[in-house]
Amino acid sequence: MYYLGTDLAGACEAKPYAWYSHQDDGAPIAPYHRSAVVMLVDQGFETMEGASGDDWISGAQSMRAYMRGGEICGIVAAFIRTLGWPARSQTNADSDVLQLPLVLLAGLGELSRIGELVLNPYVGPRFKSAVVTTDLPLQWDRPIDFGLQDSCSKCMKCARECPCSAISFGDKVMFNGYEMWKPDVERCARYRVTNPHGSACGRCMKTCPYNHEGLLAHRAFLWAAIHLPWARRWIVQLDDRIGNGSINPAKTWWTDLEIVEGKVVAPRGTNRRGLALDKALKPQKIAYYPAAVMPPPDAKQSFPVDRKAALTVAPESPAAARARKIERR
Ligand code: SF4
Ligand code: SF4
Repeated sequence: MYYLGTDLAGACEAKPYAWYSHQDDGAPIAPYHRSAVVMLVDQGFETMEGASGDDWISGAQSMRAYMRGGEICGIVAAFIRTLGWPARSQTNADSDVLQLPLVLLAGLGELSRIGELVLNPYVGPRFKSAVVTTDLPLQWDRPIDFGLQDSCSKCMKCARECPCSAISFGDKVMFNGYEMWKPDVERCARYRVTNPHGSACGRCMKTCPYNHEGLLAHRAFLWAAIHLPWARRWIVQLDDRIGNGSINPAKTWWTDLEIVEGKVVAPRGTNRRGLALDKALKPQKIAYYPAAVMPPPDAKQSFPVDRKAALTVAPESPAAARARKIERR
């Protein structure tokens, strides 16, 4: 995978909970491979330097990385099959597995405040993942802890910089049995599909202090963030002070274009944001949609969601969930 252009790769058990329950035509899925090979494709530090994260290059940056991942997984899966083992590429275009649990299990990162996003120590949140599931015998990697839960509890930069306040300023909650910072996914999705001055959005990725490239300065910062817990708050403040997350116009190499009614045109506007250093960091209301109110896995028709009701859901705190578990024992 490295030879073909992957930036980071790992292997893990393809645990049953990592498989979707149904195909999009409603047919049930039974897990069919024992292992997963997981890879990350960097979306490109230099390009992100020149972007706001929610301008016209954003969607193309994501899709280029997804496409590269699809190509590499297709080649690797075909190669494994020539060795006599079953293998299937699981990509953004067509996947029977959820990528996030596998990225975590393969030791490629930790869940971050951004929510349903794993952050890797070397490329930060700036990657797309792709997977090959297989029965090829593999030695599995293990999940990693590089202090990100503590770093994210001391840093709210992604929440501050999100253009639609979709990332929680509050504490972690229990959601569908998982301890996490739960974002307002509906608000994020709505912004990404209706963004009038850009294509999609990845501003949380762009502005995160872990969005760096492996230069000497980054290595020192990363070492301190991993080994010196007391330095994490200071590192986050320093990141703002030196202007990380701002746009570097020298790196804006592309031409902004939009497709309107089938025609490629110059866009009417382009997001070019500076850092929102003065924004108040107050916990906001998040709409929670637990599994019980989501569309049934074999639903074929559209399924409206009740945002008003979702805003009133009060999820359990991780401390309360822990106490409940101890009591039950
Ligand atoms: S992708 Fe954009 S809208 Fe969604 S959480 Fe990140 S910054 Fe916010
Ligand atoms: S910006 Fe800060 S809080 Fe958000 S994911 Fe990055 S380190 Fe965590």
